[in-house]
Amino acid sequence: MSVLSKPYFHDEAAAFEYVESIIWNGEPSCPHCGVVGRAYALKNVRSKPSKKNPEGVVRHGLKKCGACRQQFTVRKGTIFEESHLPLNKWLQAIYLMCSSKKGISALQLQRTLEVQYNTAWFLAHRIREAMRSGDLAPFGVDGGMVEVDETFIGVNPDAPVSKFSLRNMNAVVTLIDRNSGRARSMVVDNLTTAAVTEILNQNLAREAHLMTDEGKFYIKPGKTFGAHSTVNHKADEYVNRENPTIHSNTVEGYFSIFKRGMKGVYQHCAKKHLHRYMAEFDFRYSNRSATGCEDQERAMRAVIGGIGKRLTYRRTDDRAEAYA
Ligand SMILES: [Zn+2]
Repeated sequence: MSVLSKPYFHDEAAAFEYVESIIWNGEPSCPHCGVVGRAYALKNVRSKPSKKNPEGVVRHGLKKCGACRQQFTVRKGTIFEESHLPLNKWLQAIYLMCSSKKGISALQLQRTLEVQYNTAWFLAHRIREAMRSGDLAPFGVDGGMVEVDETFIGVNPDAPVSKFSLRNMNAVVTLIDRNSGRARSMVVDNLTTAAVTEILNQNLAREAHLMTDEGKFYIKPGKTFGAHSTVNHKADEYVNRENPTIHSNTVEGYFSIFKRGMKGVYQHCAKKHLHRYMAEFDFRYSNRSATGCEDQERAMRAVIGGIGKRLTYRRTDDRAEAYA
């Protein structure tokens, strides 16, 4: 037995059962009227016959609500809605994206899942949407330490041409809450003290203990939080000699995984999609093994993250962009 031999990766009925157990936890809730626990399964219902399937196909996971009499499946209201791809392939894709530390390219998904390239591309972006955290809770509560740093990736088409190469690149600011181990990243249009201040104000508790390198963007906002400690990378100081808890090595480690992924796996990413890739790396990092979350658990959390995130409205745009 390996993880890949789980029935829900191969059998559509098992895939529905698995997703239902995650999303409903035993009691189906009706997406039409919201009533919980009154739905019953409709067995052996088949879709209308078509040329390809003259006898129709089995409609797995079909339920009927005893309260409002409407039909639904667990796909409704999630990233799985409006998708013709079998749920077991969705689960395969989610598992691959959640268990590959540096991500997995749409081309690789295309080959492994045996789907069209644009299906794979679209699938990956929907899964990134499921991974996107809606968590707005501030980092650094009770004076917890928060590491913050910035990095540069890819060419920013909107940046004014500058002789300094970094100014032509996309800037990303990442915060790591040491207590919870969570990461939160933001793509920044124009890296200035004002932009950094806004990010810190929106994401840090007032009493947070800020931890950065000597970067000039952090000096002014740093004064407004509980404490601000720095290491001087330019002077080759990576860990404070007196106090070894003062460093920004955790966030540097995050950037190292992110960059290896972006350069080695994704290779190219337009600025307009960069925030989605950041959500993917944040998700895997925040739910990493060191926090006690293993691959299967991480995949399960991604399924939960897909609730309430149906993405039909972007469909045509995304498809057009797949070839852009
Ligand atoms: Zn209902």
